[in-house]
Amino acid sequence: DMRPTDAAKQPDDMNEGGIRPESLADFTGQKASRENLSVFIEAARARGEALDHVLLHGPPGLGKTTLAQIVSRELGVGFRATSGPVIQRAGDLAAILTNLQPRDVLFIDEIHRLQPAIEEILYPAMEDFQLDLIIGEGPAARSVRIDLAPFTLVAATTRAGLLATPLRDRFGIPLRLVFYTPDELRAIVSRGALKLGMNLKAEGAEEIARRSRGTPRIAGRLLRRVRDFALVAGKAVIDRELADAALSRLEVDARGLDAMDRRYLMRIAEHHKGGPVGVETVAAGLAEARDTLEDVIEPYLIQEGMVLRTARGRMLGEPGWKHLGLTPPASQVD
Ligand code: ADP
Repeated sequence: DMRPTDAAKQPDDMNEGGIRPESLADFTGQKASRENLSVFIEAARARGEALDHVLLHGPPGLGKTTLAQIVSRELGVGFRATSGPVIQRAGDLAAILTNLQPRDVLFIDEIHRLQPAIEEILYPAMEDFQLDLIIGEGPAARSVRIDLAPFTLVAATTRAGLLATPLRDRFGIPLRLVFYTPDELRAIVSRGALKLGMNLKAEGAEEIARRSRGTPRIAGRLLRRVRDFALVAGKAVIDRELADAALSRLEVDARGLDAMDRRYLMRIAEHHKGGPVGVETVAAGLAEARDTLEDVIEPYLIQEGMVLRTARGRMLGEPGWKHLGLTPPASQVD
């Protein structure tokens, strides 16, 4: 039972490269989260109760939406999706909540962007499955309490730290998603290629996997672009060479960084002599939103040690200098 989704995702995003897994067993990577979920889902099923609320946090494209859908499928319950910025009025959320069937999964993407007034409505709904609404205005206003069906909120956010503590505390199952290893991505890419009917050599899959920034969404996107290049080049078989040529044309470099990543690294290297520099300053210099840097660009560069987050600001790490082909200033060499 898949009800329509409100989430404002691009059509492609819903199943990029046809690689979206449909069961927990099919879901590659995120071993810790997967194993925990599997136990809690089994227990909830055995008791015939709604699963406890789940908070998924981690960078975009790692599978939060996919896991939310899988949770509902494994529980055998309905799935309803919306997102923080889409819910404008208390009535919007009330309408969604009152329409849930017992044990349904409600997915709220970008929950950190929920307005505080709407967050308040969520608290009693999550805790006691009750909705407190004010009907009418002025002296005639009265409050009504509505019982809701027990449901599971699965919420996604790029950073758990963006949530108010009382909201964060109401999730019984917080799960942190991590970047995928090249091996995991290789498996995902190969599976996607199979579904797309592509003849992708093992080394071709490896090349795409290695250059996908640890992110399945990027892997799916690159896979489809490589397929386009192969088609136009009239190549039936995609080997490493062809994958490499396609990725280079897309300005995805040997480490999988894109033009924006390099602009960011270059800015700190050249304009700020490697830092430390405040993230606001870097954002202003690049004319990018600070959130974009913190949610999309930095997490992977930090994991790779190319950027360091210090108390005094961002600094370029040794792998960052190396990647740019630059030498760090003498003051930064121990
Ligand atoms: P998020 O909600 O974290 O931004 P999504 O769940 O929308 O990420 O996933 C982005 C894309 O990556 C989707 O096309 C999805 O099919 C694919 N994807 C995510 N995780 C996996 C995985 N473990 N295996 C295969 N494909 C995945």
